[in-house]
Amino acid sequence: MRALYIGRFQPYHLGHQAVLEKIAGEVEEIVIVIGSAQDSHTPENPFTGGERMEMIYESLSECHLRDRCYVAPLQDIQRNSIWVSHLQSMVPRFDMVYSNNPLVVRLFSEAGVPVRKPPMFQRELYSGTAIRRLMREHKDWEGLVPDAVAAFIKEWGGVERLISVAKSDGA
Ligand code: NAD
Repeated sequence: MRALYIGRFQPYHLGHQAVLEKIAGEVEEIVIVIGSAQDSHTPENPFTGGERMEMIYESLSECHLRDRCYVAPLQDIQRNSIWVSHLQSMVPRFDMVYSNNPLVVRLFSEAGVPVRKPPMFQRELYSGTAIRRLMREHKDWEGLVPDAVAAFIKEWGGVERLISVAKSDGA
């Protein structure tokens, strides 16, 4: 069996990793799709599709899942009604989807693809929104992401980028 797991991964954090480890206990292979791959340099989506791919590959090595995962970037489209077909045409085949995102669950269910909802892992702590807020406020965030992700974000100046794109122009 091969499962699909989609996220924006802004950034990839330990909640995502816990879900992947759970999925890996239930299926042989996982297709990880990097959604909104076209977005970067905004307060909600600071990292590029390529940067998120690096974060995920390195983290998969740390938890010994790299050999069982495909990672594919996917751009958003304007039409939700055909999004599942768009996705299916761009990524390796899969038998089921794991997601808790209500829109994602709805669109795959309507398309007849089986959906499983994984348990949430300390969502108040492990959330992209909360982690980006900690970064902007110069508070501790490194412990909420895999070591490799923290190292990449520092190397890329990711916190400085996030702070600068979140600034208003003063108008
Ligand atoms: P995300 O990175 O916020 O979350 C990814 C998954 O991880 C979700 O299922 C979420 O519930 C889960 N998760 C997050 N924190 C968790 C935790 N602590 N414990 C357990 N699970 C946790 O990404 P997302 O916003 O759900 O990504 C959906 C993507 O699909 C987006 O890029 C969106 O644009 C895309 N999409 C696009 C279209 C379109 O183009 N028309 C339509 C639907 C969805």
